[in-house]
Formats: sequence, structure tokens, C-alpha cells
Amino acid sequence: MYCNACGKAIAEDGRFCSYCGSVVGIPPTPKKLMRSRTERKIAGVCAGLAQYFDIDVSLVRILCFFIVLASGVFPGVVTYLLAWIIVPEERELKPVVATQQPVTI
Ligand SMILES: [Zn+2]
Repeated sequence: MYCNACGKAIAEDGRFCSYCGSVVGIPPTPKKLMRSRTERKIAGVCAGLAQYFDIDVSLVRILCFFIVLASGVFPGVVTYLLAWIIVPEERELKPVVATQQPVTI
């Protein structure tokens, strides 16, 4: 089997190319724009955008702030509210409850 990205020969059962790190065999799942649960300040729209474009959350927030200011506040706020409604929230990660085992001291 050969890597589609760099063309080097890789192991037949490999899922990642050891040379360039790209996924081989199975097609990569497309990224979905989701509102973040973990890094949210208001509704997680900026954090979701940051995760989607793989950039820093603070950068997105600063950018959004200036876009809102430049738009005359109201259109920017409406856009944010629309994104809040339209963009789905990422799935809740339920904490794994450890099984209670007797602790030996
Ligand atoms: Zn490769």
C-alpha cells in the first residue's frame, strides 16, 4: 500500500503514514462546525470556530469583537445570535464513573 499524500510505501494494515502522518485507507471524517462546551464564554460560537479552523480561541474572539464593532454592533450581535441558534452544540462528554473497588491501605 502506498500513501496518497507522499507516495511512500507503508504497511498494509497501517492507518497512518509513518512518513507524513496522513490518514490512509479510510477517508478522513469531514469536520463539523460545533459550538464548544468546554471553552465557551457565551455560547461557544467563537470556540467552535477556533476548533473548526484549528486556530487560537482568543484570536477568534478578538476578531469577532472587531467585526462586531465594525458592523455597528447590531448586525454582529444578530449574526452571533443566529450562529448560536443554527450551529449545533457538541455532544456532551459524560464523565466515566470509576467502579468502586475496596481500597487496601
Ligand atoms: Zn505519507
